Amino acid sequence: RTLAQLPDAELDGASLLPDWSRRHVIAHVCYNAQGLLRLVHWAATGVETPMYASRQDRDDEIQRGAKLSTSELRALVVATANELDEGWRGLSDEAWRTQVRMAQGPEFPATTTIWLRTREVWLHAVDLNSGAACDDFPPNLIDRLLSNVLSAWRGRAAEEGIPNLVLSPTDRGVPKGVGDVDDPAAIVVRGTAVDLTRWATGRGFLGITTANEMPAPSAPRWI
Ligand code: ZN
Repeated sequence: RTLAQLPDAELDGASLLPDWSRRHVIAHVCYNAQGLLRLVHWAATGVETPMYASRQDRDDEIQRGAKLSTSELRALVVATANELDEGWRGLSDEAWRTQVRMAQGPEFPATTTIWLRTREVWLHAVDLNSGAACDDFPPNLIDRLLSNVLSAWRGRAAEEGIPNLVLSPTDRGVPKGVGDVDDPAAIVVRGTAVDLTRWATGRGFLGITTANEMPAPSAPRWI
């Protein structure tokens, strides 16, 4: 809906993502649907098909997609979303439980593709920089994004030296951290759950403070 409301003349404008115009974001969302559809086919057939052949392939595809005509790009958004929906609708109960993988990463059941698509569509709607905001997200989406980011950081904390960031939402009950929330060395980052989601997904510092009044660090890479 956000894209449908965006006039053609504004598609060349800057997105909120570095070096990407709105066209790049749109193309990426299309190819994300196709990538997820490859995982759905994997689940349906048992034939291993990774989401993207390689990082380079994924990036090249987005660059090409951003050069499509406006009508082609808009049509691709609709077509790829519909194809993914059809793929999902065709999965048997057993296929939904099939373990798939993005590239070399951990395996997950095909059901997770629904979440992977959900977070892409909502966050990239914000990235279109045309009025949609994290404030529009349903509260359970916010909660799930926050726990998703934290578990990603936990998984890479030792390897990448990610500090013990503790997210303390001012409008939710319990703080949650990369490590122990009572750790005296923890960096406690405060804000509403929406502010924390924006910050934790690398989308700005609005409303963010820290427990010791120091400037908040940039959030570590999420995905
Ligand atoms: Zn994305």
